[in-house]
Amino acid sequence: MRQLIAGNWKMFGKLADIAGFAAAVKTAPAGVDLLICPPFTLLERFAAALAASSVAIGGQDCHATAQGPHTGDISAAMLMEAGATHVILGHSERRADHGENNAVVRAKAEAAIAAGLIPIICVGETEAEREAGEAEHVVRSQLLHSLPSGFAGVVAYEPVWAIGTGRTPTEEDVTAMHAAIRAGLGAQFGAAGSAVRILYGGSVKPGNAATLLALPEVGGALVGGASLQAEDFLAIAQAALRG
Ligand code: PEP
Repeated sequence: MRQLIAGNWKMFGKLADIAGFAAAVKTAPAGVDLLICPPFTLLERFAAALAASSVAIGGQDCHATAQGPHTGDISAAMLMEAGATHVILGHSERRADHGENNAVVRAKAEAAIAAGLIPIICVGETEAEREAGEAEHVVRSQLLHSLPSGFAGVVAYEPVWAIGTGRTPTEEDVTAMHAAIRAGLGAQFGAAGSAVRILYGGSVKPGNAATLLALPEVGGALVGGASLQAEDFLAIAQAALRG
């Protein structure tokens, strides 16, 4: 399976950043799928700047309904209209900042799929949950309750304690968790579960990407901080080819 390297710009980035970044990522090697998820305000301009390339554009969230009186929210159809093909859902920052639980994430995923977007559903344990030996149980429960039936999107395993901290799980822990997620997807979706890409996310950098991406059942990376600099993002894309 080709690897997917997805950049999550979070609440960073300005219009002035787009042209240089787009020009650089257009030089990315073939053989790896690239996706940039900028803030909503940059989506349309980013999509236009990347129009002649295979680099895809995604949102960082969408509402569970198609339209309505939801101040500050955005619908999946609006993301599509701006040029998005994917949407990140259930990121731990949204689960923490906006109280999004598994049921909310599942409803958003259903709305995204209905609109034609590919959802990237984030799951991952906190440090306390890992220390208590509950990491796999927590992640399995998130999969069971966040993924709608017939799910054919992407799952991103992002240990909360590894996001933006410079810390990563051991290779053994990533391997064990990705195997558990694959088994969980098989139990939930049968044969279709084996086609779901499982990304690793949490402090992926040019220096550790090749190691992480080469681990079994790692189908790519969800990259936060290191996706803001085209040079780092491209280096991670290069590492995916070796993974
Ligand atoms: C993320 O926010 O999805 C993420 C993985 O961030 P970082 O790469 O900065 O840890």
